Amino acid sequence: MTATPTRIDSFAAAKPRHAVLSGWGRFPLSESDIYRPEKIAELQALVSSNGASLIARGAGRAYGDAALNDQNRVADIQRLNRMLSFDPETALLRCEAGVTIAEIIDVFLPRGFFPPVTPGTRFVTLGGSIAADVHGKNHHRDSSLASHVTNFDLMLASGEIWRCSREENPDLFWATVGGMGLTGVIVEVEIRLRPVESAYFNGELIRAPNIDAAIEAFERTDSEFGYSVAWIDCASSKSSLGRSVLNVGNFATLDTLPQNLAQDPLSVTPPIIPTVPFDLPGGTLNALTVKAFNAVIYALYRDTRARTIFDWESFFYPLDWIRSWNRIYGKRGFVQYQCVWPLAESRAGLIEVLEAISASGRASFLAVLKKFGAQDGMLSFPMPGYTLALDFPVNDTLLEFLETLDAMVLKRGGRVYLAKDARMRPETFRAMYPNLPQWQAAKALADPNNRFSSSLSRRLNMDPA
Ligand SMILES: Cc1cc2nc3c(=O)[nH]c(=O)nc-3n(C[C@H](O)[C@H](O)[C@H](O)COP(=O)(O)OP(=O)(O)OC[C@H]3O[C@@H](n4cnc5c(N)ncnc54)[C@H](O)[C@@H]3O)c2cc1C
Repeated sequence: MTATPTRIDSFAAAKPRHAVLSGWGRFPLSESDIYRPEKIAELQALVSSNGASLIARGAGRAYGDAALNDQNRVADIQRLNRMLSFDPETALLRCEAGVTIAEIIDVFLPRGFFPPVTPGTRFVTLGGSIAADVHGKNHHRDSSLASHVTNFDLMLASGEIWRCSREENPDLFWATVGGMGLTGVIVEVEIRLRPVESAYFNGELIRAPNIDAAIEAFERTDSEFGYSVAWIDCASSKSSLGRSVLNVGNFATLDTLPQNLAQDPLSVTPPIIPTVPFDLPGGTLNALTVKAFNAVIYALYRDTRARTIFDWESFFYPLDWIRSWNRIYGKRGFVQYQCVWPLAESRAGLIEVLEAISASGRASFLAVLKKFGAQDGMLSFPMPGYTLALDFPVNDTLLEFLETLDAMVLKRGGRVYLAKDARMRPETFRAMYPNLPQWQAAKALADPNNRFSSSLSRRLNMDPA
């Protein structure tokens, strides 16, 4: 491995704030000293200082405990958010890791460029997105974010900064993408944006009366549409089990836009964003209310197929319309359970899990189905197959129920996403992520004293012995 020379300044790590933190699911809670460095040199002083272990935190949109470090230190890197250079010929953007996808869209969509991969919220940092190797609605065509990152600079525990790419320090590159912040702090990123002619989507809404019809619709539209996702009614059962509404689309080219939109194709007026001002009572979202809500939503989509033009925000970020929507689950918070099965096992796995949810009397308010394509990386979550994401409010029986889902997913060769996880057992994690020993070898070289550690890594025994 080669090091990019760097200068360690005499910045003293600024005074931390001691506070309670959580992920987006508000479960679990943890207490930490939180630092907010504004300059690379401040971060270096913090990283290389003696003291409790450290984990980087971006916008805190991981659901569980990935960006928590209970009774230890957290480095919030959101103030390291400068854009450094952009070449419109190559579409290569270089920026600090605290830049968010929302900021990239604000600056570059009006210029005809969009992030190549985006999760279902734009309020995430690039550093956090690389650390989770996030996927979007285009994974079946474009794989995960790492495929569009040409290189990044990683700050190791010594404070040294190493350039990592497919050619330079490749093991560290592949251990860091999907490595949940445990190899070091990503400080700068180079990423290739996607040129687009408009801020709109030519898409279709496809109604699927059950899970077989949903899978058939994904397979049929796969080659035509670069982006696809299905909302799935997991309160349905029997012959309607897995009924869904698929949303598929491609960025609209100028010649396909109606004249009123083609006149100003890259201008999108930001909407007014409502907020949930307080925690709703814990039982607001129960099986009955979710069932009624899902029945109404499904009935709204009467047509089997409907061609539609979407704006970028409705297509990618319906959840961003309501800030702090995580408060609707009440004070105890919620767990998002996202799993994936290999392609050959996906249908059987989906049916098994959907039937278990239906039989348990639980209902997930949000349930999303996507198809994944090819994937690289040591701990990256995706694999070719189908992925299901479900939200469950925390109650006294939830964790036991999720363990039964773990066993169903594992026996079919599937796995659970670390960026959403808050409760998996270490032995389940080991069985689901067979490349763990390879990742641990890379981590041991980059961080021999396990200075980078998190609530997630300790819960899952991820650190090399
Ligand atoms: C509404 C919603 C929808 C979502 N949809 C999707 C989706 O479609 N696909 C998907 O893949 N994910 C999705 N996610 C999850 C989210 O994209 C990931 O958890 C992402 O990692 C969050 O980025 P963040 O900046 O908030 O990072 P945080 O949550 O703060 O941190 C996440 C991880 O990244 C590490 N990290 C953060 N910054 C750095 C850094 N600079 N260097 C090294 N490590 C760092 C942290 O240690 C932690 O392990 C969604 C989340 C929400 C809330």
